Amino acid sequence: MLTKCALCGGAVKPQKVEKVMRVENNVVIVSVEAEVCQQCGEAYYTPKTVEKLQEMRKELKKTIKLDELCIPAGQTYLYKKAIEA
Ligand SMILES: [Zn+2]
Repeated sequence: MLTKCALCGGAVKPQKVEKVMRVENNVVIVSVEAEVCQQCGEAYYTPKTVEKLQEMRKELKKTIKLDELCIPAGQTYLYKKAIEA
């Protein structure tokens, strides 16, 4: 079990985080349990969680209507113009 953040060395604590997942042009937000760095906010997932997320992603891709597995929570818009330097 991870006890320190690999990036900043901060303490990590089990916490629920919202992971944003893109499925085609849709965005699905999923509540995931992760080890979260209390200093920089980096989230670490166990291999089992990663596996579950991959399964979920496959399931979502197979689903014709996302609202069978999800509830609408706002809309996603694609900004028309690219931001260029
Ligand atoms: Zn950190």
